[in-house]
Amino acid sequence: MLTIGCHLSSSKGYLAMGKTAVSIDANTFQFFTRNPRGGNAKALDEADVKDYLAYAAQNGIHHILAHAPYTLNGCSADEHLRDFARRTMEDDLRRLEFTPGNCYNFHPGSHVGQGVETGVSYISGMLNQILTPQHQTTVLLETMSGKGSEVGRNFEELREILDRVQLSDKMGVCLDTCHVWDGGYDIVNHLDEVLDEFDRVIGLKRLKAVHLNDSMNDLGSHKDRHAKLGEGKIGLEALTRVVNHPALSELPFYLETPNELDGYAKEIRMMRERYL
Ligand code: FE
Ligand code: FE
Ligand code: ZN
Repeated sequence: MLTIGCHLSSSKGYLAMGKTAVSIDANTFQFFTRNPRGGNAKALDEADVKDYLAYAAQNGIHHILAHAPYTLNGCSADEHLRDFARRTMEDDLRRLEFTPGNCYNFHPGSHVGQGVETGVSYISGMLNQILTPQHQTTVLLETMSGKGSEVGRNFEELREILDRVQLSDKMGVCLDTCHVWDGGYDIVNHLDEVLDEFDRVIGLKRLKAVHLNDSMNDLGSHKDRHAKLGEGKIGLEALTRVVNHPALSELPFYLETPNELDGYAKEIRMMRERYL
């Protein structure tokens, strides 16, 4: 069965997200650990987590994906901002231990003119500070579109980070279809070759999740504007090949398309119908 869900608001807690997921025929979901712009997280409601875990087990929800605030920048030129990113992620990982066995995705960061090498070194340094052998969450680097000075604009840059993380079994990658397309990987005409390249550079065993998005822009545009499935430049046929590709079909897929709940429900139904 296709594992698919969408990004949900976490403001009402875990159980509410689980029920929303079930209401749109999703069997997974993604959520921000706190306000996407950063800031303090609400106190973790342990009763809500307990209720959610029972509900998820009964309703077949699995492989949920926590997403770090996208404003965190672990490779900022400003020491305070680097420190803030590290402390926030540390706190997120501590909280995610209450729902063990899932993944935590983050945007590697922007080197803001310091150069990729400096960026990679700050990011891997931060990960080496926060990961512990006890953590039961896998931390994912997201493939980025390469807008501005984003680190992770190609598979090599992600590989560089992974190579320098000591507890490498705690690490993985989340492939965002809009981002790789915008980054110049032609998943429309050369999906096999792109995945071969991913395997050669990073290793497909590192790939733990897929963000399933269409893109408003052309191949290699480095823009990062998501479109509804079938309404962008990637198109429904290519996205159908993505969910059915033998290297990907067992992975969890998360929609981050510009939709309200009914739009997500429609896209989930569409992809379930197209899943072989
Ligand atoms: Fe993201
Ligand atoms: Fe994404
Ligand atoms: Zn994006």
